[in-house]
Amino acid sequence: MLVQIHPYPDELVISMVARYHMYSGRAGVKESLRDVYGLDSVRPSLHLPSHLQRLSESGCFGVSARTLVYEHTLFPYYAPFLKPEMAAHVMNDMLSDNSLGVHLESGLVPSRVSMPTRLVTCPACIHDDIHTHGEPYWHRAHHLPGVISCPKHKVKLYDRCPTCGIPFTGLFIQELPFPVVACPNGHSLLNTEGETRPATNRIAMDSEFILNNTPTWKSLEELRDRYVNVLYAMGMATPSGSIRQRDLFERFITYFPAELWGVIGVAQPVRDQECDWLRELVRKPRKALHPLFHILLMEFLSGDVPRFFEQNRFEPFGHGPWPCLNKAATHYMQDIVRDLTVTRCTDTGRPVGTFRCECGFVYSRRGPDRTEKDRFRYGRIKEFGPVWEEKLHTLASDGRWSLRGLARELGVDPKVITARLEKQNLSNVAPNTGEQEERERRRRRFMETLRTNPRCSRSRLKQLNYRDYQWLYRHDRDWLDCILPRPIVSGVRSERRVDWAQRDREMSVFVEQIAQCILNQPGKPVRVTVGRIGRICGKKALLEKCLDKLPLTEHVLNKYVESRSEFCKRRVDWAMAELLCERTDAAPWQIIRKAGLRTPVSQELNDYIEQRLIEAVEQRDDSRGVDDASRRIS
Ligand SMILES: [Zn+2]
Ligand SMILES: [Zn+2]
Ligand SMILES: [Zn+2]
Repeated sequence: MLVQIHPYPDELVISMVARYHMYSGRAGVKESLRDVYGLDSVRPSLHLPSHLQRLSESGCFGVSARTLVYEHTLFPYYAPFLKPEMAAHVMNDMLSDNSLGVHLESGLVPSRVSMPTRLVTCPACIHDDIHTHGEPYWHRAHHLPGVISCPKHKVKLYDRCPTCGIPFTGLFIQELPFPVVACPNGHSLLNTEGETRPATNRIAMDSEFILNNTPTWKSLEELRDRYVNVLYAMGMATPSGSIRQRDLFERFITYFPAELWGVIGVAQPVRDQECDWLRELVRKPRKALHPLFHILLMEFLSGDVPRFFEQNRFEPFGHGPWPCLNKAATHYMQDIVRDLTVTRCTDTGRPVGTFRCECGFVYSRRGPDRTEKDRFRYGRIKEFGPVWEEKLHTLASDGRWSLRGLARELGVDPKVITARLEKQNLSNVAPNTGEQEERERRRRRFMETLRTNPRCSRSRLKQLNYRDYQWLYRHDRDWLDCILPRPIVSGVRSERRVDWAQRDREMSVFVEQIAQCILNQPGKPVRVTVGRIGRICGKKALLEKCLDKLPLTEHVLNKYVESRSEFCKRRVDWAMAELLCERTDAAPWQIIRKAGLRTPVSQELNDYIEQRLIEAVEQRDDSRGVDDASRRIS
């Protein structure tokens, strides 16, 4: 290092290296390049130069490699429109010695935007630079694609002398080009002022704005959503986000002067054709599109880029706070949620909002919201939170609520209620589809308590099954009175009459014993019927005529008495066991005959026999496998 060059604001790397060469006094370019890069084979490129780590480490410029990338190359112009991993690649290439990758990876080759190949300058900037810094330099903002006027002075940029037409630099920049004040023929540039048009000036200013400002979108998907949002407001997109392509195309084409395309070196978008970059811009982002396309669309949508940055900050779910959609909370539907996280749906790329309320209720929905109604919609409840769970617990324990009622009251699907009750371990108090069913279930449960505790008093029974007792006491008092043992009245002997409750309890125990005897008797199964039980216990008439006074007994009977098909299945099981004792397999007809079933048998029974036969074969194979294995071991 012979001298240290301090980079000027917005100065291109190539300009810095050229100035180094000028001030170092080195005879040849190669020596200067060796100073700044440690190599003489590197030529600084105009847009996205590489070897910047080396350049920084040489100490010739006194700035970090990162500063070089962000303040002295066009990287910040491209980066907002690249996928993050792509931007990281490009940045890496620029820092490293990997010069070939830079242009390929930035994906600009097929983009139908002509790239400036010669250095250009603004006469007014030369004037200003000399005034401020004592010398002119090459500016970044003059070398943005499609920019043909100076964003600061709104004057024409020149790559050659306006008087004699000699270019300032060679094509593709072979030598290090010194910043110019006059052409090689001595024509001064200082008093030149070419005319420009508003449209090209705006592109210059907007491109420079992109270069120097941090994007207000977090991803290409968000940028695309912002486009769609504005298009929607302009009537060129549907509420669901579909673009009215024809409308967009017609209005876009007429927005810009027809001659602009040729002037800025951009292929005019052609509808439904290969170069329909306009359509690509508003699609789900797949490949990187040239920044200039984005700039043109932003101008079309918002007038200019700074306005697009500010006015259309994308809020897919509008402004907070948002309503809490926890129906169990007292603040239901009130705008109190401030915690919103926006992520992306991996399938559709659409924004997904997760709203967290302080009550613990967390819901999410896919956006963006299009109508006011959307604010009160959720796709999924992610967490219910203590307030909601508590209310469910209270309501479910109360027992008066049906499943549908609970679902309505808590603002969810009945299936969700069932699942949450299971989670809460409350399924034993799970609500019913109706009061009738609820009554039946509680009666059954309470009778079970009575049956298993035949000699208990009222108060003891109440203790044993307090929940059902309470409910029945409130909703089914008469029935409860009828079934419970008579209250013990001290002193006065109650009048003599049939104590049905007492009789019922005794009878139910008796009936159960008989039923079990019938089921377990050896030999061909006999069907369990009310008549058979009645005959055995000598109370046939009682069981047939007074069952309404014997709820416990009725309960036991319902439990044991067999339907025709239940009985037939029991016969089949028995017949199979008998047959398979003697041999390895049996045919269905043999089973039917052995079981003594009337033919033809029902389809249901046929299926049952088949199923049982399959199971028997599987079992046999399993146990044979075990036998084989054990034999092999021994
Ligand atoms: Zn200028
Ligand atoms: Zn000239
Ligand atoms: Zn809440």
